[in-house]
Amino acid sequence: MANINDNYTKLQAGYLFPEIGRRVSEFATLNPNADVIRLGIGDVTLPLAPAIVEAVQKATIELGSPEGFRGYGPEQGYDFLLNAISENDYKNRNIKIEPEEIFVSDGSKQDSGNIQEIFDANCKICVTDPVYPVYVDTNVMAGRSGPSDSLGRYENITYLSATEENNFSPLPPNERADLAYLCSPNNPTGAVMDHAALEAWVKWAISNEAVLIFDAAYDAFITDPSLPRSIFEIEGARECAIEMRSFSKRSGFTGLRCAYTAIPKEVFGSRLDGSKVALGDLWSRRHSTKFNSVPYIIQRAAEATFSKTGQKQTRDQVKYYMENARILREGLSNAGFGIFGGVHAPYIWMQTPEGLSSWDFFDRLLNQTHVVGTPGAGFGSSGEGYLRLSAFNSRDNVNEAVSRIENNF
Ligand SMILES: *Cc1c(COP(=O)(O)O)cnc(C)c1O
Repeated sequence: MANINDNYTKLQAGYLFPEIGRRVSEFATLNPNADVIRLGIGDVTLPLAPAIVEAVQKATIELGSPEGFRGYGPEQGYDFLLNAISENDYKNRNIKIEPEEIFVSDGSKQDSGNIQEIFDANCKICVTDPVYPVYVDTNVMAGRSGPSDSLGRYENITYLSATEENNFSPLPPNERADLAYLCSPNNPTGAVMDHAALEAWVKWAISNEAVLIFDAAYDAFITDPSLPRSIFEIEGARECAIEMRSFSKRSGFTGLRCAYTAIPKEVFGSRLDGSKVALGDLWSRRHSTKFNSVPYIIQRAAEATFSKTGQKQTRDQVKYYMENARILREGLSNAGFGIFGGVHAPYIWMQTPEGLSSWDFFDRLLNQTHVVGTPGAGFGSSGEGYLRLSAFNSRDNVNEAVSRIENNF
């Protein structure tokens, strides 16, 4: 028999969402008439914006004509999209990222999971806890950790606890690491990092010769224009940071699939002999070897999100979700719960009442109110004592969920 990659056996079972599903379906079987409201999963709910639908239709018809047909696209992305990203996400905000520094992909989940491949197997990883599981699991698969302990933390990975005391945005550690994964606005806590926090991280990265992997999947949900929406707003970041952005949450693309990674020319890694290699060159090599570009139709759809109407329509969708977040945040605060997040992110980080564990509160919420959340402990040991509620739902469901929770606790 072929030996397997034994690192996979270190992974904890993909437990969180299957276990939620199991408990919800058991509840639904026992209570067939209950109207269950799912505020658990981080997926958009509004239909595609009309400007996107129109771009998809137009590009499809184009491909169906002899003049408009296209096969494989350039691996890095079509110029029309690279230029639109560089202009709209960066230059219009006075940030210098050139089209050649942008790599279009089919998702930030993939990019944030794949980026570790261009680094040495012995690189030391640092994450915040709770954490988007992809960052950790992909490094475990690649052998950068030992086994997990009773808290679910893997040996040889540095975990920084996100707590109420540090506004759920940990500062850099006192030790060095090679790679640090940051996500702001954060999934799951809904916390956002300000300029001072990001400056501290950039300073740490430069003095430790580390690389920051910055996941900005939720940047469009930032409501205060003075907060940083890109790591590249921070001086020095062009020498130490890689940024990932996705059309998934900001433009309703979770089903269409389009994202990108930006790697400035000045970010380098080191070979074992100490010589420098541009990380963008390595990523380009990987991308063109293992990826065959995002469909033309989808790249046209992504381009359409930058048109005047596309921007207006997708911004209105973000506003809709953020109004849901406000209703959840204010309603549950007024009902006496400890509520965090939800101001610059579509997630509410809710403290469990009476010291209940995340899973016990999940069960009580389901049984008493028929509302489904996500137990914070599922995102890491520091998520214990919290529950994540998502603002991705209909206004009616959000209002109904708040009034049920107010009336039943
Ligand atoms: C949703 C999400 C993404 C986006 O993933 P896609 O693969 O682009 O859909 C990335 N990072 C975080 C933390 C997310 O929650």
